[in-house]
Amino acid sequence: ERLMTNRITEEERSIENVLRPQSLDDYVGQDKMKESLRICIEAAKQRREALDHAIFYGPPGLGKTTIAHIIAKEMGAALRSTSGLVLAHAGDLAAILTNLQEYDVLFIDEIHRLPASVEEALYPAMEDYQLDLVIGQGPATRTVKLDLPRFTLVGATTRAGALTSPLRDRFGLVYRLEFYSPAELEAIVVRSAGVLGIGMDREGAAEIARRARGTPRIVNRLIKRVRDYAQIKAGGRVTRRVAEEALAWLGIDQAGFDDMDRKILLTIIEKFNGGPVGIESLAAAVQEDKGTLEDVYEPYLIQAGFLERTGRGRQVTRAAFDHFHKPSTLLI
Ligand code: ADP
Repeated sequence: ERLMTNRITEEERSIENVLRPQSLDDYVGQDKMKESLRICIEAAKQRREALDHAIFYGPPGLGKTTIAHIIAKEMGAALRSTSGLVLAHAGDLAAILTNLQEYDVLFIDEIHRLPASVEEALYPAMEDYQLDLVIGQGPATRTVKLDLPRFTLVGATTRAGALTSPLRDRFGLVYRLEFYSPAELEAIVVRSAGVLGIGMDREGAAEIARRARGTPRIVNRLIKRVRDYAQIKAGGRVTRRVAEEALAWLGIDQAGFDDMDRKILLTIIEKFNGGPVGIESLAAAVQEDKGTLEDVYEPYLIQAGFLERTGRGRQVTRAAFDHFHKPSTLLI
């Protein structure tokens, strides 16, 4: 089982829903974003307006879907959820938009994947709460303008750079989610363990937090596996020792790297002399999709100081050589 995988099973989705914070107060970290949202939401409510359209970007598992749910709740409105991969035709979008109520939140995950025709239909909807419906065929074709309720579009994307500028420009609120600090992750571990009824020492929680790649979703995945281990091997309670054993059993190393992280760094060190190596060559060498490397693996390796993007490709840092006890003679 891959801890870093992008795919989310039905079972995991239902557990995620249980563990999902329900209010801004419950949402750990991202303080600047929360503070800004708190003000904008309060102001919109006072004026009896819909909240401005908002876009959230950052690596998977950092809380984009969660914040969309919270915005709807704080606005006292409903959330409709879809994805750029699912909305194939402008008609699909029209069906959703015309069923919204005032102040509702329409959440579009992976919004950078919207087909151009759907994206273009979104523009007047976002700008003027209007939909241009094309009716009929051939010479009888005509366009009808339909008024929509004032709604809020919340978009999420792993890549800010993949959005077209006309779409990006139509979002009044733009937020970039950051990786979480160990202390913030620890708070999430404690919270999730409480919700799931797992007995855990503070040190056990800290150990899981430290190795969760700065990502709440990974915290929650690790907790479930550590719970299994504790239950079968250690009488149920997660101490530091139990957490360490369980994480080793899961193949998570001291830096929180999983197999793929190690493969990426070791490949650059061993096959490419530490880099720089182009992303295409790297993707071929580790047999992983280029987009997944860029969106899922690299951001954390870069922010943790093990990898750098240079003009000539990817390059590991001295910390990476040290982590794997490799001499870094090439790096001086
Ligand atoms: P994304 O949409 O960015 O991929 P999600 O919003 O689905 O990520 O978050 C994944 C899981 O991580 C959620 O189910 C939630 O339980 C947890 N989570 C995310 N952000 C936070 C947070 N700020 N505080 C507590 N838990 C969080």
